[in-house]
Amino acid sequence: MTLRKRYTLFTIFWIIFILLLFNIFVYLFVINITTRSEEQSLTDKVKLLLENTHPEQLATYKDPGLLNDFYNVNELIRIVAPSGDIWSEEGSDKELLSQPAVYYRSHDSGLMTIGGKRVLYMRVPLYEGPIQVASLEIMRKMNTLDTYLQILVVALAVTSAGAILFAIFGTYWFTSRLTSPIQQMVSTMREIDRSGKLRKIESKPEDDSAEMQQLVRAFNQMIERLDRTFARQKQFVADASHELKTPLTVIGSYAGMLKRWGRDDAAVRDEAIESIAREVERLQNLTKSMLTLADAEQEDWLNLETFDLVPIVDELSEMMHVTFGRTVRVNAANGSVFMKGDRDKIRQLFVILIDNAIKYSKDTIDVTVSSVKQMVRVYVTDKGIGIPENEIPYLFERFYRVDGARSRATGGVGLGLSIAKRIVDLHEGQIDVMSKPGHGTTIMLQFPNRRG
Ligand code: ATP
Ligand code: MG
Repeated sequence: MTLRKRYTLFTIFWIIFILLLFNIFVYLFVINITTRSEEQSLTDKVKLLLENTHPEQLATYKDPGLLNDFYNVNELIRIVAPSGDIWSEEGSDKELLSQPAVYYRSHDSGLMTIGGKRVLYMRVPLYEGPIQVASLEIMRKMNTLDTYLQILVVALAVTSAGAILFAIFGTYWFTSRLTSPIQQMVSTMREIDRSGKLRKIESKPEDDSAEMQQLVRAFNQMIERLDRTFARQKQFVADASHELKTPLTVIGSYAGMLKRWGRDDAAVRDEAIESIAREVERLQNLTKSMLTLADAEQEDWLNLETFDLVPIVDELSEMMHVTFGRTVRVNAANGSVFMKGDRDKIRQLFVILIDNAIKYSKDTIDVTVSSVKQMVRVYVTDKGIGIPENEIPYLFERFYRVDGARSRATGGVGLGLSIAKRIVDLHEGQIDVMSKPGHGTTIMLQFPNRRG
């Protein structure tokens, strides 16, 4: 069932329910009030009549003219003797007149039905001194009142039907307005599904509710994100194939050279073997970096634990010294700096940064690790070639290298810093580059210090 139908049905049933309760209440209330006022008027009449019968004597009650003044079209009024004889009677309604005359011993009043009509009655004993000598009976047909009640019922029915009709049209109109953005969204999704092209929903903010606007905005944001992701993926594939093409071309041309002249010329053979080996290493690095990057895209990549940063940096410093003969000074004033994160990823992050510092400088490298307030802060500083200021914003892009040719010579593929950025992001940290060409570069890392 559509939302619109459901809304409409719900509103209609709800309105019918409310109207029913309301109408029943009004009807009962009106009946109650009017019947009570009729009863009151009957009581007044009896009181008046009793006042007229002074002195309270049998002869007065037997006076046939006693009731003359009390004639009324819808009424019957009579005085009945203990024997059941009627002493006096006023009234013209046949149905009322046909009621048997009964001598009542006690006071009584209420409603009864005669011939399907409501009749109000009152019976009063009449006394001479302390002894009851007769009984007075008044009956009044509630004709006019019942006619009014019928009119009331018709009026209530008509207004209720009108209200329901208005409610149906109103709800239908309102829900179609309400659901039109949903409909639009569905058709946009179908369109996306059919054509395979991402599209946003155009919303008219002035006639949509806040929730709908939120929904549309969330949908559009999701589409934007998907769009960006797809574009990035496309870019990545393009960049990766471009990066793969260069070493493959080099390997291909050296292999050709080997085939043609390599057998005889030792110099050519050595050069070719050397170059092929270098390019193969590049390819290996490239594929390794690309695999790491693809891995890093996963959200549940982190393996959280609390650990000391200093020994990790110390160990790397030692390793760099042994492998490259370079000095990496570790400055940790506090002796140890703990942080919560993925130990292996953080180690990889340091490898990337120290590797860059080694590649792009010749002097000593400084790594400073400290814990300030709620932050863990790390500086990796070199006194190398530096990075021009206008290049800094692009450093974290994949395959981005400042001066491509120079970096190719150093063996870089331009993925290091984008992997670094991803690791920092996953740890909710921040990475900043401060650099001056010719003077050196400092990379600053900051992590929230959440321990335990
Ligand atoms: P790899 O993926 O092998 O690390 P890479 O070092 O070229 O390759 P990134 O680490 O992403 O790539 O660095 C991007 C570019 O930023 C480098 O090509 C280099 O030009 C520049 N760069 C990075 N660190 C430094 C540094 N400490 N000093 C000077 N230039 C740097
Ligand atoms: Mg690098």
